[in-house]
Amino acid sequence: MLTQVAIVGAGPAGSLLALLLHNAGIESIVVERQTRQHVLSRVRAGVLEWGAVEVFRRAGVGARLDAEGHVHSGTGIAFGGEHVFFVDIERHANSRFMAYGQTMLQEDLYLAIDQANVQIEFEVDHVAIHDITTAAPSVAFTQHGESKRIDCQFVVGCDGFHGPAKSAMPAGVLRTYEKTYPFGWLGILSETPPLEQLVYCNSERGFALASQRNPMLSRYYVQCPLEDSVDDWSDDRFWHELVLRFPDRIAKQIITGPSIDKSIAPLRSFVAEPMRFGTLFLAGDAAHIVPPTGAKGLNLAVSDVHYLSRALIQHYHDRHDHYLDRYSEMALRRVWGSVRFSWWMTSLLHRFPDHTEIDQRLQEAELAYLQSSDSAQAAMCEQYAGLPFED
Ligand SMILES: Cc1cc2nc3c(=O)[nH]c(=O)nc-3n(C[C@H](O)[C@H](O)[C@H](O)COP(=O)(O)OP(=O)(O)OC[C@H]3O[C@@H](n4cnc5c(N)ncnc54)[C@H](O)[C@@H]3O)c2cc1C
Repeated sequence: MLTQVAIVGAGPAGSLLALLLHNAGIESIVVERQTRQHVLSRVRAGVLEWGAVEVFRRAGVGARLDAEGHVHSGTGIAFGGEHVFFVDIERHANSRFMAYGQTMLQEDLYLAIDQANVQIEFEVDHVAIHDITTAAPSVAFTQHGESKRIDCQFVVGCDGFHGPAKSAMPAGVLRTYEKTYPFGWLGILSETPPLEQLVYCNSERGFALASQRNPMLSRYYVQCPLEDSVDDWSDDRFWHELVLRFPDRIAKQIITGPSIDKSIAPLRSFVAEPMRFGTLFLAGDAAHIVPPTGAKGLNLAVSDVHYLSRALIQHYHDRHDHYLDRYSEMALRRVWGSVRFSWWMTSLLHRFPDHTEIDQRLQEAELAYLQSSDSAQAAMCEQYAGLPFED
């Protein structure tokens, strides 16, 4: 097979990139390890920065997002069993965000890709990336037992945290930074009306989050020990624990019901840099992971793809590599900003098993400061809303 850009991974980053390139007349072929159905069924992110919403609109997948996404002007924060305050992103950062499920977004992307006749090869195995120091790299793989190869001009690894792309860089080039957290998030999805706002909660029993996907689909999380499995958490146990964590006036608004999905995710900060070597580029979770507390993972995947699609379009349309040459440093500036913010939100809102009494009092003092200070809220809002893309 022959194409201009070979993309490994058809999650949000890979499929959005393929679509933006197609819209600009640039050919790509995407290879994906899983079945289409498997990718579509993964329940994950659901909070979109406004910059990401605009990228999806530009890609031509804004219609359902605009019709069904729930626009929010801020978020609630609860702590100490009784305090609840609203952080007004619209007032402080002149921006808003949208609650819209990644599963729906992935459906929208695949539908647009089908209409555009962009080629995605599902159920591929043994992906190997070759010759990235040349102008003619290739991606070899097997599919249903048959060996295949894509010859191309650029390879983009959009293959998530566990994908093979970053290890195609030569030893000594790639630097990785990692921090793991001593707890996970147990998340459930239930077909019940959510709270009107997102509410983050720091309680003495651990973190909790009330989130949402649509007017009849709620997403709730509780911090849990890493050793727990979903079998330890019946629906009854989950709801009981959730309402104990929120202050009464929030807890009594929570409408419970059977879960339709339940999973536990570990929390991690991870960055691999550079995000380019030769003709290989990395985008999305392939290069960085953030704990979900700041709602940045999907948004960073979108900003990487925004920068990279602009760079490839400039390369093919204007025969100019200004943006390609700056892709890694530009993307990484935004990545490190979000890694820092996500670490800060995680540190602020969770109970850490190794916290001493003074650590605990400092965390409470920081929450009280955030509640009382307009300046502190403005700093949080600027980052929660998402920093602007660089020109
Ligand atoms: C429980 C949970 C909650 C989250 N909540 C939020 C949130 O609220 N807000 C937010 O912004 N983000 C959130 N995230 C993060 C967000 O879901 C990810 O950042 C996002 O999916 C990244 O997209 P991606 O395309 O880069 O990677 P992925 O979605 O991981 O896609 C990578 C693709 O590559 C494929 N692949 C892997 N290996 C290979 C291979 N060898 N060959 C071919 N294909 C391969 C995978 O099958 C996958 O389809 C959450 C994540 C989880 C797990």
